[in-house]
Amino acid sequence: MRISILKLTFLLITAAAPAVAQNADNRSEGWRAGVSKVAITPTQAMPMAGFASRTHNSEGMIHDLWAKALVLEDSAGKRAVMISSDLLGFPKVISDNIRNKLKAKFGLNRDQILLNSSHTHSAPVLDAALVDIYILDKEQLESITRYSSLLEEQIVKLVGEGIKNLEPAELFIQNGVTRFQVNRRNNNAVTLTQLSELQGPNEYAVPVIKVLNSKGDIKAIAFGYACHPTVLNGYQYSGDYPGFTQIELEKAHPGATALFFQGAGADQNPLPRNTVPLARQYGKELAAAVERVLEEDMKKIPSKLVTAYSELILPLDNLPTEADLIKISKTSDVPYQKRWAERTLSELKAGSKMITSYPYPVQVWTIGNHPLVSLGGELVVGYAINVKQMLGPDAIVFGYSNDVMNYIPTSTILKEGGYEGDIAHVVYGLPAKWQPGIEANILNEIRRLAIEVGLLRK
Ligand SMILES: [Zn+2]
Repeated sequence: MRISILKLTFLLITAAAPAVAQNADNRSEGWRAGVSKVAITPTQAMPMAGFASRTHNSEGMIHDLWAKALVLEDSAGKRAVMISSDLLGFPKVISDNIRNKLKAKFGLNRDQILLNSSHTHSAPVLDAALVDIYILDKEQLESITRYSSLLEEQIVKLVGEGIKNLEPAELFIQNGVTRFQVNRRNNNAVTLTQLSELQGPNEYAVPVIKVLNSKGDIKAIAFGYACHPTVLNGYQYSGDYPGFTQIELEKAHPGATALFFQGAGADQNPLPRNTVPLARQYGKELAAAVERVLEEDMKKIPSKLVTAYSELILPLDNLPTEADLIKISKTSDVPYQKRWAERTLSELKAGSKMITSYPYPVQVWTIGNHPLVSLGGELVVGYAINVKQMLGPDAIVFGYSNDVMNYIPTSTILKEGGYEGDIAHVVYGLPAKWQPGIEANILNEIRRLAIEVGLLRK
C-alpha cells in the first residue's frame, strides 16, 4: 500500500514539473546539479570509531558505508559541492588533504566545499582522530593509514564524477519535522521510559533539498537531522539510523541519491537505543519525515549561490601545567585520560608546545535566498536555535562539517561542565577546553559571513 502511494506521488511530481530551460551553450538558465556516490566500506576488518569500549576489529557489516556528492552550479556558473559521508568525523588533516586536492584538481575553494560526516559510530577509525581513546597495535594503525588515504582519493574522485554529471536541474527546499532525539544532558536515559516529560533544549527540524532533473525525476534528496547516530555500538559497519534512512529513500525513489547531513546533534541522543530494530525504526521515522516534505509543496529556489568560509581562531582555556599532567598520568582511573596526559607529557619532552587556540571552520551559504550554515565540531543544539533566531526559522544548520576537532558547547554548557563542556577535549586529544566566550565568538563570525553573502545587512 505504502509503495503504491509513493509511486503515485512520484508520478504526480513528474507530471507537474516543467522542463528546465537551456540556452545555446547548454548552460541552464536555472541550476545545474550533479550527483555521485561511492561505497567506502572497508574491505577488511578494522578498528571502529567513536567508543572507547570496543576491544577488537569490526566483524562484517549491516549495510555499506557511503560517501555522496551533490554538486550545484547556479546560472552564473558558480559552483559548490555538498559531500555527505557515513563516518564519525573528518579530522583536520584528512579534511585539509581532501580540500587541497579539490582546489588543485577542480579549482574549488574552501567556501565552495561542504564536507560533512553523519557521525555514525559504526564506521572505521580514521588517521589522527581521537588518538588517546583507542588502543591500537601496529597492524591496526597501518590499516587506518591505508584506509584514510584511500578515502581521500575516493572523495576527490567522487566530486569529479559529480561535476561530470552536471545537468539542468530545479531545486526545492522545505523543513520537515521528527522527534526521536532526546536531549541527553537534561534527561536520564536509564529512567527515560518512566518520564512523561522530556527536558530541552531541542531542535526537531528535518531540512530537505529536493533536486529534480529536466524530466522532473528526483535526482537527489539532501536532508539533515540533529541527533547522534549512536543507536548501534557493536562490531558491524553501518550508517546507523541515517544509513537506514538513506536506504529507505533510495528504495522509494529509484534513480535518486539520498544524502544525509548531520545537524547540531552533539547533545542529542536517539533514545532508547542499542538494537538494530531501533536503528531501523529511527531510520524509517526520519525517511517518513523526508517523504512528507517531498509530497507537500516545497519552496522553489532561485538559481543563485553565494558562499563564504573562514577559520575563526578560537582560544583554548588555561593549559595544564607539567605538574598537572604528571599527577593525572599517575592518579587518573580513566584510561584515556591517563594516555592523554602521558602523550602530552612526552610531546612536551620532545620539544613541542601545546596549542593555545584552534582554527575553527565557519561556513555560510545562501542557496537562492535560503541560509545554510555549516560549522565544525560536535555542535550542540543551542547553536541551531541561535542561528535560527539570527537568520530565520527556515535556516539550515549543520554541525560536523569540514573538521571535527572537539565538542562545541554553548556558554551555558561550558559553564555547567559535564562531558560536552569539560571532558570532551581529552577524548579529542586537545590540551584544554574552550575559553569562555566561544558562543559569542562563533555567532559573531556567522553574522559577519551572513552579511558577506547578503543574508543580513550591516
Ligand atoms: Zn559524538
